[in-house]
Amino acid sequence: MPPGSDAKERLRRSAPPPPDNPTLPAFTYFTPAALDAVVKASDEVCDCCGQRRGHLYTGPFYTTAREVELCPHCIADGSAAAKYQGSFNDIIVTFDGQVIDAEAARAPQSVIDELLHRTPGYQSWQGNRWAFHCGDGGIFQGDATDEAISNASNEAKDHFDHINGRPSFDELFGADPRHRPSTYHFKCRQCAMDLFLWDMD
Ligand SMILES: [Zn+2]
Ligand SMILES: [Zn+2]
Repeated sequence: MPPGSDAKERLRRSAPPPPDNPTLPAFTYFTPAALDAVVKASDEVCDCCGQRRGHLYTGPFYTTAREVELCPHCIADGSAAAKYQGSFNDIIVTFDGQVIDAEAARAPQSVIDELLHRTPGYQSWQGNRWAFHCGDGGIFQGDATDEAISNASNEAKDHFDHINGRPSFDELFGADPRHRPSTYHFKCRQCAMDLFLWDMD
């Protein structure tokens, strides 16, 4: 039995049942629709708050703590990240004094902090980076739909080429859209431009 399981068992016995109509918290940088992919309905207790909130988080959490089950409310208020010294996203602004992500470097630290510690991560193959524009984080929309990709503006394609380098947007998506890689869709919180990140899978 892993450590702490006695305490969890006591919580399971004493925590009241979840509310009949459990609510989800609002996130600045994550749409409610995209939340469906990283939150499941559950009657189980959250390890962080010890309550049954009706939902548990199924997305990534970078922490050295043993496996923890978290409710989305403990993500939204920062208590899960603080309690387990973890982060939900994989944003590297600088490394060894060098700027790694120039667009992220233009965003205030408060935005980076909210994305790392109070915003869910999304399911990805190679770590979940975040898209930035206008000195702010993009709002995560979910996996990019074929429609979103075919409707991308020239401005959005130029931005994609600027942040992703080669292959270009047209090289990746132009030839045969059915065989495109996993692609994540964000919208700039300031100018509403579509932002895309792609992933090796
Ligand atoms: Zn909780
Ligand atoms: Zn923008």
